[in-house]
Amino acid sequence: MNTNTNTLPARTEAYAEQVTDVEYDVPVDETPTTRCPYCDRPLRTERLATFHVGVRHPDECSEAERERFDEERDDEEFDLFTFHLKAAVSVFLVYFMFTFIYGLVWAG
Ligand SMILES: [Zn+2]
Repeated sequence: MNTNTNTLPARTEAYAEQVTDVEYDVPVDETPTTRCPYCDRPLRTERLATFHVGVRHPDECSEAERERFDEERDDEEFDLFTFHLKAAVSVFLVYFMFTFIYGLVWAG
């Protein structure tokens, strides 16, 4: 039958959209803090809204929203940098500690 091949792509798109909804939508029993002014999507925090607007509506959003998004993104990158730094320092300390203990064992 021809109808099967016609409906298949449309249904695939529907499924893909469904997965996105499940992943990002605020649960029904939870009141969303804010909503996207462009697509009315409920969002949990102002921060998420800033990210959402910056990522999803870069052409529609205002200059102020754009700036806020850039700032938030910088913060995020700084957080990530701090995390990497801490991880690197931890690895170095563990390495140093083992070398120290190894030296102690050989000295004693
Ligand atoms: Zn939106």
